[in-house]
Amino acid sequence: MVARITRALTRGAGPAGPGAARPLRRAGWEPEIFEAYDHSAGLDQGVFLTVAVNGFDALAAIGAAGAIGGLGFPTGQIRFANAAGTSLGAMPIGPVLADGTRTRTLRRSELYATLTDLATDRGIPIHHGRRLTGIDDHGGAITASFADGSSATGAVLIGADGLRSTVRALIDPSAPAPRYTGMGNAGAFTRTDVVAPDGGDYRMIWGRRSFFGYTVAPDGEVWWFANPPAKAERSVDELAALTPEARKAGLAALFADDAGPAAEIIASTPGDVLLGNQFDLPRVPTWHRGRAVIIGDAAHAVSPSTGQGVSLACEDAVVLAQCLRDAPSPQAAFVAYEARRRVRVEKVVAWGAKMGGTKTPGPVMRHVYAAILPMIFKAAATPKAMEKQAWLFGHHIDWDAPGVPVGAAR
Ligand SMILES: Cc1cc2nc3c(=O)[nH]c(=O)nc-3n(C[C@H](O)[C@H](O)[C@H](O)COP(=O)(O)OP(=O)(O)OC[C@H]3O[C@@H](n4cnc5c(N)ncnc54)[C@H](O)[C@@H]3O)c2cc1C
Repeated sequence: MVARITRALTRGAGPAGPGAARPLRRAGWEPEIFEAYDHSAGLDQGVFLTVAVNGFDALAAIGAAGAIGGLGFPTGQIRFANAAGTSLGAMPIGPVLADGTRTRTLRRSELYATLTDLATDRGIPIHHGRRLTGIDDHGGAITASFADGSSATGAVLIGADGLRSTVRALIDPSAPAPRYTGMGNAGAFTRTDVVAPDGGDYRMIWGRRSFFGYTVAPDGEVWWFANPPAKAERSVDELAALTPEARKAGLAALFADDAGPAAEIIASTPGDVLLGNQFDLPRVPTWHRGRAVIIGDAAHAVSPSTGQGVSLACEDAVVLAQCLRDAPSPQAAFVAYEARRRVRVEKVVAWGAKMGGTKTPGPVMRHVYAAILPMIFKAAATPKAMEKQAWLFGHHIDWDAPGVPVGAAR
């Protein structure tokens, strides 16, 4: 059997494609990965991200937790402050598991490269520069066609092609478009002595005009992001017209009146900064049709504020592989995959939308937050509050357990 997977890129591949390919190989399939881009990861592939303990649990199921756990650095908590520099409290980023596993902050390019290497190590072919444009499901097999005129045929096609998924639209032309969240995403790396290493903790600041966050890597490099609010999406042309200096000046100006180090950190940044719009994707009604299925951001993009997108994509990848291993047909596998995943991922998207909404308060809400957030963070750090988050962080995949209900297994 051949499984055709629509994405992956040697140095810029998203996690879901290579994440699915490895367990599929373990499940007896012969996956191949097709990725639209042929360049290696740069700023356009994002800057950095966190992988949560539930993501590590999924990675452990495919033997990848060790390699990914060697990247970046562990992250314990987020310390919050307001524009005046007053502390609002701190909150742990997920629990520490019994084996010491905790959330890690990684360079996105390193995560993608490592997942891709883990796939190629298993002999899984990765084809670059192959942008999927069409699918033809002819009953016993499915053919993907690519922008370069080539095509490939397999038993199933897994669309792990991200927020702007082509496969999603081909499965269901009326599928919803990503939802703009009312803010942008900016981020980059720099070195500056205005801040010092802090044990991997994040500092996040409700500035007067924008939200800002940073963490300092053990080697002193500062990894930062900002969420500049904007009523409407910035167009591709508008973003492209901004020079690196204009991007940095515009962002730094947002924090000029704040007490924190944001403006200095931004001004110290060499080169360009990533700047784009932020989206989520709350509910995609159709995840599969015939021999095609979507996973990861293609099916359910969560707000970056959750720090869960990669972890959920890895969970999807492993669960789908388990279902394909054990179901009597691809269609039965897709039904089982959706049944196991939909409620969970939509709960995370809803949680993220609520959380992201707090980043852009109006003047009144800013005062309300200043009064209530310290109490909220204090309560959130208690063992009881951590227990309440077990639904999110305590997710566990037992690779050897049946992927589909026992009656349906072959
Ligand atoms: C600024 C920002 C910060 C974030 N921070 C975090 C964080 O801290 N923690 C976290 O877990 N998540 C974070 N996320 C979310 C996370 O990046 C995504 O959830 C995750 O990358 C989804 O993985 P994926 O493989 O589904 O999609 P992607 O990573 O988007 O990968 C999709 C791949 O498909 C390829 N592709 C697209 N179209 C085609 C086509 N037609 N044919 C072939 N290939 C195609 C693309 O080139 C790309 O390589 C953040 C997102 C953003 C924007």
